[in-house]
Amino acid sequence: MIRIVRSDLPACTIARMSELTRAINLVASPERSEKARASWNSNATVRRSVRTVLGEMAIGFTTCMYCGESRGTDVDHFEPIVRNPLRTFDWLNHLLACSSCNSHQKGKQFPVDEDGSPLLIDPTAEDPFDHLLLALSIGVYSPLTTKGESTIKVLGLNERGLPKGRMHARKVVELVLREWDRARERERSDEMQEHVRTVQDQPMADVCQSMLRQALSPGADIVFSDSPALLALLRRIDLREALLR
Ligand SMILES: [Zn+2]
Repeated sequence: MIRIVRSDLPACTIARMSELTRAINLVASPERSEKARASWNSNATVRRSVRTVLGEMAIGFTTCMYCGESRGTDVDHFEPIVRNPLRTFDWLNHLLACSSCNSHQKGKQFPVDEDGSPLLIDPTAEDPFDHLLLALSIGVYSPLTTKGESTIKVLGLNERGLPKGRMHARKVVELVLREWDRARERERSDEMQEHVRTVQDQPMADVCQSMLRQALSPGADIVFSDSPALLALLRRIDLREALLR
């Protein structure tokens, strides 16, 4: 999971979502979530607009904003409709997720701490790396905070074959960066840009972002002890400027 910058929705969609929220608010509390769900399902134009902008915000080929591996197919309500129907049409509550993260993992879960603050990372509101550390050699996340711990559990970030996928992504990134370096030595800027785009479009972008961050960490020599040449590449300013998000 990596930080994602939230764009603006078209003004007409925002206006329509405000109208729909007012209509949900008029319904008595016990029936409100049912009304909100029905309203969401029946407003295809709003859903399409939200989906389009989320797709433009997503990394690579519209990958899931939670696992970063699969295609983001669903509009996920970060705070579930059943818990807060009045956020059904709240743009800040919409994320793009794969069906596995949205339906099978997260579902209606929304853990909170004793103050009511979410114990789930919203990648459009905070930097996931403040809460999660990726062990690059085994592709497994460990928590840095309680929120990180809860996020790993709710989304199953160390399950579903995801660690294996991250290990594979690390190898692919290394191979492409070596090609980038060969192109640099031959002063082929067009090829260098192509390799940068290849890395940017890879699923599991969190792996490359972790590599770039950990390359400057105090333990970098140990993390990259099997590949000092890769470490040197990851520390290059021109490559960091091209890839670091
Ligand atoms: Zn996912």
